[in-house]
Amino acid sequence: QDKTSMASRQSRGKKLVDPVFSILAKAKEAAAEYGEEKVVNATIGSIQDDDGHLATLDKVTELVRSFAPERIMSYAPIKGIAGFEEAALNFTFGSSRPEGHLAAIATPGGTGAIRQVIYNYADDNSNVLIPDWHWGPYKVIAKEFGRKIDMYSIFTEDFKFNLVEFKKKVTANLKQQDNLVIIFNTPAHNPTGFTISTAEWEGILTILREAAEDKSKNIITLLDIAYIDYAGEFEEVRKFFTLFGGLPENILVTVASSMSKSFLAYGMRCGALIGLSSSKEVVDEFVDVSAYSSRANWSNVNHLPQELLVELYNNESMLADVYSEREGFRKLVEQRGQLFLTEARESGLEICPYYAGFFIAIPCDNPEAVVERLQQEKIFAVPLNKGIRLAVCSIPTAQMPGLAAKIKESLTD
Ligand code: PLP
Repeated sequence: QDKTSMASRQSRGKKLVDPVFSILAKAKEAAAEYGEEKVVNATIGSIQDDDGHLATLDKVTELVRSFAPERIMSYAPIKGIAGFEEAALNFTFGSSRPEGHLAAIATPGGTGAIRQVIYNYADDNSNVLIPDWHWGPYKVIAKEFGRKIDMYSIFTEDFKFNLVEFKKKVTANLKQQDNLVIIFNTPAHNPTGFTISTAEWEGILTILREAAEDKSKNIITLLDIAYIDYAGEFEEVRKFFTLFGGLPENILVTVASSMSKSFLAYGMRCGALIGLSSSKEVVDEFVDVSAYSSRANWSNVNHLPQELLVELYNNESMLADVYSEREGFRKLVEQRGQLFLTEARESGLEICPYYAGFFIAIPCDNPEAVVERLQQEKIFAVPLNKGIRLAVCSIPTAQMPGLAAKIKESLTD
């Protein structure tokens, strides 16, 4: 036993290493030394406008300022305020609400929702299945609760969803454990911008239905849709949800819905965890275990953003204003992404399949060395296991031209 540690056995040695923040600090130092316009800071995972300022939605800010103190300072109920569940279901599904029993409870962002599912549905020491290209905190959350991570290669050689590898991992894990939580981050996946197509979803659901024929097994899908509102038009990007109706009772569908990106309100820390099942008992249990976990972890969720969501989804014209303002920022990010894609094609730079969203990923060997070489060019990107990540959400449009070519050069040095 390490005598210098006072921490409990399960907490000993845990230390958060966040590559984004350390590289961000370097980018800021370089900007101070050489001037902001000389430095490409591709680390920040929030939309910055073309002047380098954090983008926010005026209508959201207006609404935030309009609430009387007694409406936002009081405790909210544990599962969410009156009207929150309906507002969260409308926000998440639009008119593509899947058939089945549904419930939604408030969470502190998508992160809170993801935490609840990993804790309540993956057994101690069992595997949670995620893709090889993934958002790092899934691993942090799993480790926090003594769960393990298994990964499948998400892409085929021609950059389609790899159904063969996915099936292998689902089958292998269900041989050794009865509950399997599987996380999907789509549309506009972090870190690649990949979106699972309808045909690919049909393939995935066929595999899961087959696996669920063994009734001793439980499959829990977690749809992490943090970037959905940057993937395309509101109703269009939500159509895939209807595929999740009518699944067998031993497949529980959960959705981690987040207000962070959709309302450019990252720091308000609000989202919803949604459960969908063809069994009412399964959804009732989902609400019971989730609410218990909420009480044990954060008690209740921030009151203000809940009021905001309820207000917006009860006021069509206000909501329309928010959507149209957000559309401007979606188009801005799309324009930056398209500029990069065009130049990547021209310079022969291979990138992961980018459909939309905040990030573009470039596969490469030795990402740490590539990131360091790029820093010599005053370009600051984040290294991942299998490549590097560029946050197109935060790079001013004027800095996009020439970027793909410089990255291509840095790979061959
Ligand atoms: N999922 C992914 C893939 C993300 O990138 C993020 C935020 O960066 C989240 C979930 C959760 O965000 P939040 O907890 O702010 O809703």
